[in-house]
Amino acid sequence: MSNNYDVLIIGSGPGGYVTAIRSAQLGLKTAIIEREHLGGICLNWGCIPTKALLRSAEIMDHANHAKSYGLTLEGKMTADVKDVVARSRGVSARLNGGVGFLMKKNKIDVIWGEAKLSKPGEVVVGASTKPAVQPQNPVPKGVKGEGTYTAKHIIVATGARPRALPGIEPDGKLIWTYFEAMKPDFMPKSLVVMGSGAIGIEFASFYRSMGVDVTVVEVMSQVMPVEDAEISAIARKALEKRGLKILTEAKVAKVEKGANSITAHVETKDGKVQQITADRLISAVGVVGNIENLGLEALGVKTDRGCIVIDGYGKTNVPGLYAIGDVAGPPMLAHKAEHEGVICIEKIAGLPGVHPMDKGKIPGCTYCNPQVASVGLTEAKAKEQGRDIRVGRFSFGANGKAIALGEDNGLIKTIFDKKTGELIGAHMVGAEVTELIQGFVVAMNLETTEEDLMHTIFPHPTLSEMMKESVLDAYGRALNA
Ligand SMILES: Cc1cc2nc3c(=O)[nH]c(=O)nc-3n(C[C@H](O)[C@H](O)[C@H](O)COP(=O)(O)OP(=O)(O)OC[C@H]3O[C@@H](n4cnc5c(N)ncnc54)[C@H](O)[C@@H]3O)c2cc1C
Repeated sequence: MSNNYDVLIIGSGPGGYVTAIRSAQLGLKTAIIEREHLGGICLNWGCIPTKALLRSAEIMDHANHAKSYGLTLEGKMTADVKDVVARSRGVSARLNGGVGFLMKKNKIDVIWGEAKLSKPGEVVVGASTKPAVQPQNPVPKGVKGEGTYTAKHIIVATGARPRALPGIEPDGKLIWTYFEAMKPDFMPKSLVVMGSGAIGIEFASFYRSMGVDVTVVEVMSQVMPVEDAEISAIARKALEKRGLKILTEAKVAKVEKGANSITAHVETKDGKVQQITADRLISAVGVVGNIENLGLEALGVKTDRGCIVIDGYGKTNVPGLYAIGDVAGPPMLAHKAEHEGVICIEKIAGLPGVHPMDKGKIPGCTYCNPQVASVGLTEAKAKEQGRDIRVGRFSFGANGKAIALGEDNGLIKTIFDKKTGELIGAHMVGAEVTELIQGFVVAMNLETTEEDLMHTIFPHPTLSEMMKESVLDAYGRALNA
């Protein structure tokens, strides 16, 4: 078997494996190199297993409110942490196996091991420094292994790992990252979650649903700091109503470790220090790109703040070398990684009309209870840019389907450019908004105006009707408010 390819991809996360499939579809001889787990962080430790955990949490939350639906649950609903985790790991394992199947189906060679760029167009694959993490799916049989491989085009898709704050480094025992938080072997009684981005808030929400006493500490003035302030405030109130404790403009300055607990020294804005003792601390202060030990320095590849610098098509400053996904910078999201990869490979293949990545139209979703979803500019960002805007709002409390579901807390907010009528931002909090947001993503991608949206018929009764009402409200025409 030849070790020479048209395209070599390092890393099989959603960025890498999707790019490999598109590459094979375009007739390019393709191989993917992976050291740890097919499907990357997303399938094994990120998007998918968290959603499986959060599904257990959602069922728990519904059961706790069974009475309000006229239903009686005999006894108390309890969670068996082993079974909850086993289900989540099983979901990951199934999808991880699915990526192996897709590689085979598309005749993509899988090379198992740790890749390093040795010179332009060449990669040396050595033994992996990481253990295979899915015991159900050991290293696939019949794959290639250690050796030297060459390709006209090499795409780095090595992803990211948890960021550690100096002095508060995760130890896997008392201070967890998402790895430990994803598969606890016991249910802690209390937790401090440091950081309230999507990862921190999703774990905070999950553990709270499981009855854990959770305190979230966030250095910024709002939870989920990238979200619209109004949406974030509604989410915060709802999370607090569920019993989450939230401290904003507060920072974990120091963590003292006990035998089986931690004490976090939390500094608040007024300079006061509060000590919070809990069973465990989850460090969720972001991720950093996997750029080390790849041979990037020797090739002179430009990096910036832990990520590889690329243009809108994934090209680095070194000819024939590309980067996509988390390693190529924020937003660090699976769908961004996939899309960036598809753009990159289609450009390599010389397809006409390939558009560069437009980061302004990447949706973001947080699957806490209540869910949060957004695309485009927040109200504050639009104002900062000096845009003249119109803002529409519609509350879940005025929507028939939301009331029927027993989910009447939430808001859909739309932001339009006053001059052109273009939809420039949409922000949501409430049930199922992570599914609803895509309607506005399509609208924004088609450069839709308020008029197009007003002329669109939304089915009744649905939560999606609130999207139209929010648009109507921006123009003083809401019907049900
Ligand atoms: C807890 C959590 C929840 C998340 N939830 C969501 C969500 O709901 N939605 C969303 O969009 N995003 C979510 N994310 C982010 C998402 O997981 C990442 O954005 C996505 O996985 C990035 O894909 P990638 O292909 O760039 O890299 P990764 O998925 O990180 O894959 C990179 C792969 O490269 C391999 N690799 C690295 N170095 C080498 C090497 N030298 N040789 C060989 N192989 C190598 C790694 O083993 C890995 O498999 C979540 C992340 C976490 C941690």
